[in-house]
Amino acid sequence: MTDSTPGSTAPAIPARRRFLVQALGAAGYCSLSMALPVCAADIMVANVTGLYSVSVARTAQPASTSEVANLVRTWPGRIAAGGGRYSMGGQVALQGGLHLDMRTMNRLVWFRPEEAVVRVQAGMRWRELQDLIDPHQLAVKTMQSYSNFTVGGSVSVNAHGRYVGHGPICHTVRALQIVLADGSIVEAGPHHNRPLFAAAIGGYGALGIITEVELELDRNVRIERVVQDVPLAQYVDFFKTRVEFDRANILHNADLLPPEFDAPVAVTWRRTGKALTQAQRLIPKDLSYQTEKNAIWAATEMPGGEWLQAKVIRPNLLKPSIVKWLNHEASRDAAELEPRTRVLSTYALQEYFIPVRHFSRFVQCMRTILRKHEVEALNVSIRHSPADTLTLLPWAKEDVFCFVLYYKQRTHAQARAEVGCWTRELIDLALNNEGRYYLPYQLHATERQFSRAYPEAEQLRTLKDKLDPAGKFSNELWRKYL
Ligand SMILES: Cc1cc2nc3c(=O)[nH]c(=O)nc-3n(C[C@H](O)[C@H](O)[C@H](O)COP(=O)(O)OP(=O)(O)OC[C@H]3O[C@@H](n4cnc5c(N)ncnc54)[C@H](O)[C@@H]3O)c2cc1C
Repeated sequence: MTDSTPGSTAPAIPARRRFLVQALGAAGYCSLSMALPVCAADIMVANVTGLYSVSVARTAQPASTSEVANLVRTWPGRIAAGGGRYSMGGQVALQGGLHLDMRTMNRLVWFRPEEAVVRVQAGMRWRELQDLIDPHQLAVKTMQSYSNFTVGGSVSVNAHGRYVGHGPICHTVRALQIVLADGSIVEAGPHHNRPLFAAAIGGYGALGIITEVELELDRNVRIERVVQDVPLAQYVDFFKTRVEFDRANILHNADLLPPEFDAPVAVTWRRTGKALTQAQRLIPKDLSYQTEKNAIWAATEMPGGEWLQAKVIRPNLLKPSIVKWLNHEASRDAAELEPRTRVLSTYALQEYFIPVRHFSRFVQCMRTILRKHEVEALNVSIRHSPADTLTLLPWAKEDVFCFVLYYKQRTHAQARAEVGCWTRELIDLALNNEGRYYLPYQLHATERQFSRAYPEAEQLRTLKDKLDPAGKFSNELWRKYL
């Protein structure tokens, strides 16, 4: 039996109708007394790709912090938490362990609109939060390009979005409530239990279960899309002079399209006072996205997919301006990217963080690797992040450009092995350029590559030995690398 892909409680899937339209047009324990819904043995916990599902002993859907604490105290084995299950390599579960499905912990704890601060249970999704804050003309300060992710899952990977100047989500988190391995419930923030706070954000559940998150919010503003073709050699200069320090720029990314990946299309959303061309405040939930599904299929399966990219997708990126609310753009549903089936092939993501000074060298070599291995890349989206000054395992040790690769792969064993091969080449390329790679994706990195990318993991081990000496909290990521 398979215990729900991300689509079951809320839709699923990766990366981009932006590419296609923005882009196609311009993101228990059984014995417990609490009557927790608990499933029988041999359950597969799946992720969005359909690959690398994990067989667990049990799943539980807690509704409160005290239920989580009881589960942690009484479960005799290992425990992993999961949110939206959009990570792609078994980060949400451990073979034979207890899987805590946090999506049932999705309630508002408190909301202070006048201070632009909110506290929610960790299993709340961004889209649920947007419903609550939009009437107050407030927006999430930093989140991913899609709204399906849980707050706890986003904090646990230290997610980022396209927000100019924001960097990772850690800079907007005011406090966390965490259940530790002994079942105690602790509060951590920048000024209180800071080492725990800094390790739990981006810690992929290694130290405890995050049950509540307190977040700073931002104003919801009108934004206008501006699309520009920028020569590759001039992109860094363009970003520094035209994008980075202009406070009117709210969101920015640049797309590199196959087959050459050499002509960035820069998409900037600027604050504006102009009349809305899109009056809706939020994207409705549960749309069917038929056109997008057909477009993805046509672009990736039909002969002439590259022609489609060149003649339809790219020109569409350069379409006239759109004016909408920030919350509308931030409420995109990853279902828009979901293919009709993932049986024979699936879509996946990777991300590399490269210091600004190595931009050109990295791009040139990345293009070579992608072409050499005939990677079925749909696009590479470039973003920027200032340095992460807070977390223990930062992916941005300094200012970086982030290269998000969205690709298609076959699901059979040989195809997986081939993906592993070119992924390791890309990881080496990132490491040789003083960069890092992102951890929520497939676990193709060698242990040595992980240690080179995240030498701070040694400090995480030390802290874990202190807080969780029996290694109660684990998942397939930490089983391999920690
Ligand atoms: C289509 C798509 C687009 C994406 N876009 C972006 C993007 O723009 N920016 C970006 O940074 N990332 C992006 N990602 C990656 C995404 O941010 C991560 O996969 C994120 O973890 C997803 O949140 P989730 O709720 O699905 O977390 P899950 O995948 O469920 O969990 C991720 C990790 O967090 C841990 N965790 C979850 N909840 C808790 C908790 N309550 N307590 C302790 N640990 C917990 C899990 O154990 C796991 O290790 C994208 C992924 C997809 C598929």
